[in-house]
Amino acid sequence: MKMLFIFVFTIMSAYAQDNDVTHRPKSFNYLSGNAVFVDFEEAIYDITYDIDKKKAEVIAKFKMNVVEAGYPIFDLIQEPTLVKVDGLEVKAPEVSTPSNETKIRVINKKLSIGRYDLEIQVPLTNLIEYTTTGVKSAYWVTDLQDRNYLERYIPVNLEYDRVKMTFNINFKGLKTKQHLFANGLVKWTTDQKATIDFPEYFTVNSLYFHTTPLGEVELLETTFKSVNGREIPVAVYQVPEDSDPEGLNGLKNVALRVFNELEKDYGAFPHPSITIYNANLGSMGLGGMEYAGATVTSKSALAHELFHSYFARAMTPANGNAGWIDEALASWRDDGYPRLATLSGTSSMAAHAPYTRKTDTAAYGFGARFMSFLDNKFASKGGLKPFMNKLLEKKIFEPLVTEDFIQEMELFYGEKVQDMFNKYVYGKPQKLKSAQFHLHRKISGVELRSIL
Ligand SMILES: [Zn+2]
Repeated sequence: MKMLFIFVFTIMSAYAQDNDVTHRPKSFNYLSGNAVFVDFEEAIYDITYDIDKKKAEVIAKFKMNVVEAGYPIFDLIQEPTLVKVDGLEVKAPEVSTPSNETKIRVINKKLSIGRYDLEIQVPLTNLIEYTTTGVKSAYWVTDLQDRNYLERYIPVNLEYDRVKMTFNINFKGLKTKQHLFANGLVKWTTDQKATIDFPEYFTVNSLYFHTTPLGEVELLETTFKSVNGREIPVAVYQVPEDSDPEGLNGLKNVALRVFNELEKDYGAFPHPSITIYNANLGSMGLGGMEYAGATVTSKSALAHELFHSYFARAMTPANGNAGWIDEALASWRDDGYPRLATLSGTSSMAAHAPYTRKTDTAAYGFGARFMSFLDNKFASKGGLKPFMNKLLEKKIFEPLVTEDFIQEMELFYGEKVQDMFNKYVYGKPQKLKSAQFHLHRKISGVELRSIL
């Protein structure tokens, strides 16, 4: 029995890794060869916050699988202070992708196929504030802007790649205590040191991390009972000055209602824990941001963001051209899952240049209507929900592209849908009504700092 389990697990792991390799963006010409996308197999981050010196540094160590010979790609906005491959120093300049849709870093050493140790050192300067007693720091992301995943803070790969991430955090010189909010397993070894182990299926869009001195926020901890019997730990917190009028209990009650609705529709909650930061974004005219079992939000957007724990962070996009799928599904749910018999208009939600990393905001309006249209088309087969459940069952934690979504839909319903997608998501860009932008506009750096 045990042997069989190990055998099945080994096959599953190998298969899982396959998805990362097959979903790599295409290599492109660079120097005397190709810049190539790689598969990170492990990432250990030593993160030191020096409270007295008001400085923070990250030393990241990766097991890097180079599956195609060439110059390996990773990303990091800040200039690294040191990059080493198998102990030898290299450089990793910023390079524009062929259509200038984004920038990435390319290691200036051509590598043959094989596994390598990659080490990257970099100061942490983004979204960090030292207080009289400690430090406020968060690695919040947004998919509505280019290069706004974890690369804003720490060296990482792109959205297609899942990697087992571990944080070793050291609050050097800390005399009080810090909160650590994360969607991984947090273990304090001393009052100044903690380790966080994140699930191995996390990508650059999944991880939630926020630290703040004890006393800066009010916190409610509870558990939700899942349909599969599991007690899921839940943390709801907010800054007292920004507090919700009904308090943390009010937020917890909304979360529980939505949790029950989602479990009824899509089965057991897919993540080990739930973390909700009420940052009162609604008052700033903003929605929220989703992570795997976590969100920065306000009460009004909480349901939308929790839905994303299924569609966005369990069924998850592999690139910017697939980001529209989960926003379209979430907005369709927000509207009450309406059906539409006819659909006018078109979009280019899945047709941007190949290395695009941000989500097309047409997903919220036109994308949601496209889902209504598909739901109506398949009404006799129960609409889209049975298909959504099948996708979760088959593709959970396997980043997918729009072409996978189409293929799975054709398999599930036994009919061709490619032409419809060609018409509605691979079309020409349309001008959006400004109202659609309102909740889903870009969040500014100043706004992020104000909720830190
Ligand atoms: Zn959303």
